[in-house]
Amino acid sequence: MNILDGKLVAQAVKDELKAKTELLKKAGKSSPHLAAVLVGNDGASETYVAAKVKTCEEIGYISTLIRFDADVEEDVLLDKIRELNEKKDVNGILVQLPLPRHISEEKVINTIAAEKDVDGFHPSNIGKMVQGQPAYIPATPYGVLLLLSHYNIETKGKHAVVIGRSNIVGRPMSILLSQNTPTGNCTVTICHSHTHNLKELTLQADIIVAALGKPAFLTADMVKEGAVVIDVGITRVEDPTKKKGYVIKGDVAFDEVAPKCSYITPVPGGVGAMTIAALMKNTYLAASLQE
Ligand code: NAD
Repeated sequence: MNILDGKLVAQAVKDELKAKTELLKKAGKSSPHLAAVLVGNDGASETYVAAKVKTCEEIGYISTLIRFDADVEEDVLLDKIRELNEKKDVNGILVQLPLPRHISEEKVINTIAAEKDVDGFHPSNIGKMVQGQPAYIPATPYGVLLLLSHYNIETKGKHAVVIGRSNIVGRPMSILLSQNTPTGNCTVTICHSHTHNLKELTLQADIIVAALGKPAFLTADMVKEGAVVIDVGITRVEDPTKKKGYVIKGDVAFDEVAPKCSYITPVPGGVGAMTIAALMKNTYLAASLQE
């Protein structure tokens, strides 16, 4: 069993971006600028946004954090996004999801200018991605592909089972793995909450991507010997013995599944780290394209 070390690979990606950013600065150009918008003060969202801002600093990007109270009116948020769209010195915009119920995520995503949509959620970017045209790839699936590529994991002809069909993880993941690319060419099965014979399917999988948000859902009896297991899940599970009062759990029962795998991602230290690295790559791309 080999660990797919997301922390290590993410660091390599960040080092490369840092070097490229230093070259930009030396050439008198400005650093890529990411604007992050956070609505409310959900603990997990706070942590994610803080990690993104911190990574910008590490690499040498400019970052701006714009905060709104949880009861902000939808129009106020949309106006801010339009303002950021117009700002020449802002290259990438992300609005941390999920948003409070009174705000339409669809409207918010559609309002972000496609060329600044570094999360890759805008329909225009999704459409381009589906057609294999250059586009911002949603950061989490992009991070998974970077990880597979770094470890030279063969995907061609493999059966990949993706558990979860969300617009931000499962669905783009399934499309990317099926495409005619070096990290694609899989035969893909996408599963969701209405899939009846899940275990039958996962037992046939050479590659499993678990992205459903149910801690320790994927157990050893669902995985065939030698499979590659990618755990996207991040759930805070209460644990009064911990200082923070919780622990982070993935969707895979790591201890029992790992011995059966050829490769597996840990949680934390797997896909989460890669998601931020991929976002940083998209932000660099945005700055280059807008220059
Ligand atoms: P989501 O709730 O939008 O989607 C979950 C999907 O899982 C749905 O499509 C649902 O049909 C499917 N599902 C639920 N129960 C199922 C079951 N019993 N069997 C099969 N499918 C089932 O979630 P999401 O936004 O895609 O996130 C999934 C997980 O990934 C969460 O834990 C989230 O925190 C995590 N996540 C991690 C990263 C990262 O950077 N590592 C990024 C985004 C999301």
